[in-house]
Amino acid sequence: MICHHDHARQAAVDRHQLLRPHVSCRIGHDRPADGHPPRCDQPFGGTPGGDTHDGEVLGETHLPATIDIVDLHSIEQTLAELGEPRYRAGQVWRWTAQGAPDYASMTDLPARLRDLLAEQVPFSTLSVADEAVARDGTIKALFRTHDGRPVEAVLMRYRDGRRSLCLSSQSGCPLTCAFCATGGMRFGRNLTASEILDQALHFRRLEPVDHAVFMGMGEPLINLDNVLAACRRLPEIGISNRRTAVSTVGWIPGIERLRDDPMPVRLALSLHAADPALRSELMPVNDRYPLDEVIAACRSYYERKRRMVFVEYVMLAGVNDSHIQAVQLTELLEPRMFKVNLIPYNPTDSPYRGSSPKAIEAFRAELERRGISATVRLTRGREIEAACGQLAARARAASAV
Ligand code: SAH
Repeated sequence: MICHHDHARQAAVDRHQLLRPHVSCRIGHDRPADGHPPRCDQPFGGTPGGDTHDGEVLGETHLPATIDIVDLHSIEQTLAELGEPRYRAGQVWRWTAQGAPDYASMTDLPARLRDLLAEQVPFSTLSVADEAVARDGTIKALFRTHDGRPVEAVLMRYRDGRRSLCLSSQSGCPLTCAFCATGGMRFGRNLTASEILDQALHFRRLEPVDHAVFMGMGEPLINLDNVLAACRRLPEIGISNRRTAVSTVGWIPGIERLRDDPMPVRLALSLHAADPALRSELMPVNDRYPLDEVIAACRSYYERKRRMVFVEYVMLAGVNDSHIQAVQLTELLEPRMFKVNLIPYNPTDSPYRGSSPKAIEAFRAELERRGISATVRLTRGREIEAACGQLAARARAASAV
């Protein structure tokens, strides 16, 4: 927060602070794999368009891939129109990335310019529609885009000080996983890079953040251009690429592109069943990208990146949580390449029920016994319906009444 009583001195202090990583959360140590920090004179680079190739494959060409009316590019454009020097955009971005609450607080910008920006460029591409705080400190936000699309993001606070964001890559989801609240929603559209970053910035304005997972709404690998453009800027917000994970249903073209991209972003695979028929039942996308090909793509990711792939496995009572299914899972995965995260199911309107803690523990023990490293994910924010798509679904239900 900035005090206004002594602008000149305060500005100097703030500038100094902006140049250093925030010590308390040890951010900013990792660089993109190419070793070059992002250039500050082009702070908003990235592809505004969505990954239309993948969209075309899905047969959604009638939907706009992205709508990029108000976003970070507008700041660059507005500054250029005002005849401001190029470095101004870098200044605005640095303030924003460090959690500045508005243009007014950017004290090394001329006051006239701050006023003009406030008039002409919305500070965020998202407005907050709802926010819920759980007893464990988890905060879930429901945003709306300028065209009224719902977007969810969650801040998870851990005892060890980690502050992890769960980000959305799409409004709604084109895939229809049977147990997922987002899967039951209508697909809206890909989010722009700015709309993804603005989720992170919303929480960065509350406190420093250091981890991110693309496990909110949507399939990030169907919107990979914008997800990667956002990942390129996340380190400046405090989240290194190594501390960023992209979670996929197994969208093979996206896994291959992520493998070939120089950023050291982690891959997480939503597996949920080692048996192809059961997986197709839970995740119809399995018919399109069959399990063995998905696992082969993950292996090639591992070989290239030398980073373990995290396998997510939602524990559904009587569906995928038996002893034999644990054994099947160990037969599918190589211990050196894959690590399993067992996810307690967050109940939704679906007919599925979560496995009991005892069943989850037995499953985990069997994986470990057979050499597969497995953890049970901490349940965060259950009472605020922090699972994928749940807040938006609730808002929709409420507005339908
Ligand atoms: N489309 C991507 C990312 C979004 S979902 C993917 O599927 O990986 C992120 C994770 O949350 C996935 O593993 C998904 O299966 C899981 N998930 C969805 N609904 C859930 C629920 N109700 N409870 C627990 N996990 C859920």
